[in-house]
Amino acid sequence: MADDALRAAFDELRGRLIEAGHLIPCGVDGVYGKSAEYERVWAGVGAAASRLAAPDGPVLCSFPPLLPRVTFDKVEYVRNFPHLSGPMFSFRGDDRAHAELIRRLDEGQPYADLLQQTDVAFTPACCYPVYSTLTKAVPPGGIVFEHHSYCFRHEPSPDPMRMQAFRMWENVRVATPDDVLDWRSTWLSRFAELFDRLGLDARTDIASDPFFGRAGRLMAQGQRAYQLKIEFLVPVFGESEPTACASVNYHLSHFGELFDIRTADGDAAHSACAAVGSDRCVVALFQRYGMETDTWPSSVRAVLWP
Ligand code: 5GP
Ligand code: ZN
Repeated sequence: MADDALRAAFDELRGRLIEAGHLIPCGVDGVYGKSAEYERVWAGVGAAASRLAAPDGPVLCSFPPLLPRVTFDKVEYVRNFPHLSGPMFSFRGDDRAHAELIRRLDEGQPYADLLQQTDVAFTPACCYPVYSTLTKAVPPGGIVFEHHSYCFRHEPSPDPMRMQAFRMWENVRVATPDDVLDWRSTWLSRFAELFDRLGLDARTDIASDPFFGRAGRLMAQGQRAYQLKIEFLVPVFGESEPTACASVNYHLSHFGELFDIRTADGDAAHSACAAVGSDRCVVALFQRYGMETDTWPSSVRAVLWP
């Protein structure tokens, strides 16, 4: 699709969501308030995913959308995705620096150089907070975590499917390689079932993360060659521009080694995560079935609100 046509499609869908009150613009692309009905759909998507996860007995946990900076740096987010990163800055100066800050504010001047980096960063994914809590042996049979929270990625866009602040539902499996691979194939089937029941026409594809720059292209090629990331793509803006609404990611022993997480036999644990872009699913559902949930097919309503 030509850029102009795609931009028009973004504006059209976002305009309808705003007009219906489901998205409340906040003045910057990709940051929205949500209607109560939107939130009801969002909760339904998360609950449907949780029901699929239930046989694994995940440990339910909740973390704020912030990562300690040491973890943020350890997972190499700024190294690999500097353009998406959200390190947090605040003011630590004295009265003189404060006076200068106020002067700049009054004059509408930039003031970033008066701020200093804090010990926290916005988390770009739901699974990162989990690994740092696991720096010890996982029990025999491994472990599964479930976490649903806001994430931040600095990618302002008029596309209502691409938000800067968006929610992700994740299950994270940490175990032996065989157990993790079995679990990954189970989730490929579960997601296929979920999108099928929601009538969202998803297809899968091997994908890569948006690593920055020339070095990043090599990382992305490696990720694809080993089929480490598989996305469920929904054609919200047509077959040629599908959007990832869920992904299953296999990290090999990457996080096991980084965080010294060991399986019962003492080897570095392998890990994988199954992620649903829950805000993306909500927008895809409104696009597919219209702005009034009362008129959605009963089969879809039954998946969201059984
Ligand atoms: P991943 O870590 O695979 O990039 O992201 C996991 C899931 O989060 C994606 O499959 C997608 O559904 C969702 N996601 C990623 N980026 C965005 C975004 O910019 N906005 C929204 N609403 N969801 C996103
Ligand atoms: Zn993850």
